[in-house]
Amino acid sequence: MLQQSSVREAQQPETHQVEAVNRRLDRNLYLTRQKIYPKLAHGTYRRIKWALMAVCLGIYYLIPWVRYDRGPDLPNQAVLLDMENNRFFMFGLEIWPQEFYYVTGLLVLAALVLFLVTALAGRVWCGYFCPQTVWTDLMVVVERFWQGDRNARIRLDKEPWGPVKIFKKTMTHISWIVIAVLTGGAFVFYFADAPTLARQLLNGTAPMQAYVFIAILTGTTYVLGGLAREQVCIYMCPWPRIQGAMVDHESLLVTYKDNRGEPRGPIRKSEVKRTTGDCIDCKACVAVCPMGIDIRDGAQLECIQCALCIDACDEIMEKVGRPTRLIAYNTIANQEAEAKGSTAPVKYVRARTLLYLGLIALVGLIMLATLFNRSILDANVIADRNPLFVRLANGDIRNGFTIKILNKLHEPRTFTVGIEGLPPNAKLLVVGQEQAAEPSIVVPTDVLSEARAFVSVPNADLSKLVSETEPFFFVVKDKASGTVTKRKATFRRP
Ligand code: SF4
Ligand code: SF4
Repeated sequence: MLQQSSVREAQQPETHQVEAVNRRLDRNLYLTRQKIYPKLAHGTYRRIKWALMAVCLGIYYLIPWVRYDRGPDLPNQAVLLDMENNRFFMFGLEIWPQEFYYVTGLLVLAALVLFLVTALAGRVWCGYFCPQTVWTDLMVVVERFWQGDRNARIRLDKEPWGPVKIFKKTMTHISWIVIAVLTGGAFVFYFADAPTLARQLLNGTAPMQAYVFIAILTGTTYVLGGLAREQVCIYMCPWPRIQGAMVDHESLLVTYKDNRGEPRGPIRKSEVKRTTGDCIDCKACVAVCPMGIDIRDGAQLECIQCALCIDACDEIMEKVGRPTRLIAYNTIANQEAEAKGSTAPVKYVRARTLLYLGLIALVGLIMLATLFNRSILDANVIADRNPLFVRLANGDIRNGFTIKILNKLHEPRTFTVGIEGLPPNAKLLVVGQEQAAEPSIVVPTDVLSEARAFVSVPNADLSKLVSETEPFFFVVKDKASGTVTKRKATFRRP
């Protein structure tokens, strides 16, 4: 759309001397990296990013300090990956290693939500929530604090080394390292009681693993967030390559409206009527881009959809008195429609989004159902493999088993054990309780107990077994609550 309004009063805003250093066509893997100096953007999306950055960092740093009362003898940390006791606590939920499928379910759910969000609004994960983006943004804030905004940083880098430059650069790197240490420090608090571990870390008595993990995370945060920055997104992360398959004509993407902006050109004082498009080629959108690209080149793998170029361009459009959103979230379908002079409303409900929503609902329901029907008793029976059976002196056949019972309650429990499905004269003998009429196993609080058991079928009854591998059941009953669980086993005979 070629604007024809008067531009006599409009001043050409500052034009930025900036090149899109990561433009794919110009990028050469054999060239050294060209540093990017992202300029501070002002506007709606920058404010949203500030808010989300505060929320993400707040959640990460503060969650280990949130307390949750689970009663005596249990950790009171709301979120805790208790490595010592092989348990994952998340508020009221307690997950045992045997139940790790819940964590798998949560990861599947998170992946499906990510697919849905990508189908709706492109790489919003990358632009707003990805730890790489959030921490890089934080590192840039620190850099800007010590060295100033884009132009000041460029000037500083060109200056010869002197006391001021050394001070600014040193303070920047010290601040990055402090952030990196705090990031690594917060990570280890998820694996042990945070106040206790904090004290141990300060007085040097924490486990060696804690120091090692803090060192590793300090290194990765400093290198990836402080130094590597956009290189991680462009070269290391597989997600940009995958997400291309998840967006379609109806996905909202940060887009330059070239039908409105082109032909681009600066405002000329002599101009009475504007003869070019709305883009005044000020390159403000390139100057703020943390990825070093020019959105006017079209959709690019390098674009993390952070929308800062929208803010930058809106500011310029307001200055020159033109409609904002020359760069905007837009769908390809709407772009095509706009080129023909019409519009195409965003279709949020479509086959792809419905499919993802359906899968999210399905996985969520399965997880809820398994969570509500969760057993507090876990029993396993493992048959001896060698020998499969033994013929006793009186001709009876005996099979050996190991019974494992997990008590998920925080009080000791007694379980009786019986068998079902073998001839009536078949006998169960639990080692250590040879004389007991009803063998029982006491399982202390929070413990997995094991017992050896033998099942024997008298010689006279062997003919009653239908096959050489006769199925039967071990019946484990909680004496106090009467809860019964059955485990299938096989009786083997010659
Ligand atoms: S082009 Fe725009 S949306 Fe894409 S990374 Fe750069 S500033 Fe963010
Ligand atoms: S798209 Fe907007 S910010 Fe970018 S160069 Fe054109 S007018 Fe400037």
